[in-house]
Amino acid sequence: MDHKAGFVAIIGYPNVGKSTLMNALVGERLSVITHKAQTTRHRIKGIVSGDGFQIVYSDTPGIIRPGYMLHRTMMSAVFSALADADVILLMTEPGVDFSEEEILGRIRNAGTPVILAINKTDKKEEAVVAAETEKWKGILPEAAILGVSALKGTNLDRLLETILDRLPASPPYFPKEDLTDLSERFFISEIIREKILLNYTDEVPYHAEVSVNEFKERKKGEEDIIYIQATIFVARESQKAIILGKGGAAIKKLGTDARKETEAFLGTKVFLELTVKVEKNWRENERALRRFGYWTDEGE
Ligand code: GDP
Ligand code: MG
Repeated sequence: MDHKAGFVAIIGYPNVGKSTLMNALVGERLSVITHKAQTTRHRIKGIVSGDGFQIVYSDTPGIIRPGYMLHRTMMSAVFSALADADVILLMTEPGVDFSEEEILGRIRNAGTPVILAINKTDKKEEAVVAAETEKWKGILPEAAILGVSALKGTNLDRLLETILDRLPASPPYFPKEDLTDLSERFFISEIIREKILLNYTDEVPYHAEVSVNEFKERKKGEEDIIYIQATIFVARESQKAIILGKGGAAIKKLGTDARKETEAFLGTKVFLELTVKVEKNWRENERALRRFGYWTDEGE
């Protein structure tokens, strides 16, 4: 059998460009990208099927010191991606020191091929990238090391070759036309969450979670329209007031931004209804975390 297939875990610190890279490799916007840290909360799979191969990427939350229970479950998403990876793609950027000995230990002892991608080379001098490469040769001598720019698409063809060289022989895991294992509902909740990150400041976005409750196709005259009802959960009344804004102005803008992107994503007209609810301290509440899907197949 010469078909190759396998799972590639993309891991690294927040903001190094993991989600940008996965979206570039898959050719679709699957993962939320913003300049804010901790945008990716779940493990999101992106699938690339080609002639004789299938690569299943897992974008993961950035590696952070677990503080809140939410952070601990985010870290379990990183570890579970590591555990079933055929190839580990550790991502970094020049000038960032990676000091997670526990993670490095797991990577070295996993018996899994490791690729170290030094991202954002578009922002740095060649000499800086070369020095960074030397530094990493010392840390992970077995790893294939290459500089890339996820944003500009630089060296991604070589990265793909490097991954394919390390991919085991296996039949495909998913139908060839699939891009992801997640539902449209999930992506819509991610779009709304991304717009919350972009529209609000300070702690509000980090205390907000979104659940899509209804997703119905309706005919409106000749037109197809999708009716979506989503609830934004926040941890406190004061955060609810901020989400709503004066006279509801803020949530109106949020709704418009999210609707436009959802329409582009689904390719149809959308009617989006947003509701805000207070779910006290949901980040420390196991039942709430389960409801938001943080404990799914991730163990714990
Ligand atoms: P993640 O937290 O690792 O998933 O990082 P994101 O993919 O969300 O990206 C974080 C920020 O870095 C965003 O503002 C991206 O536009 C930016 N970024 C990602 N890749 C590159 C790159 O190759 N070059 C530059 N200059 N910026 C990048
Ligand atoms: Mg991300």
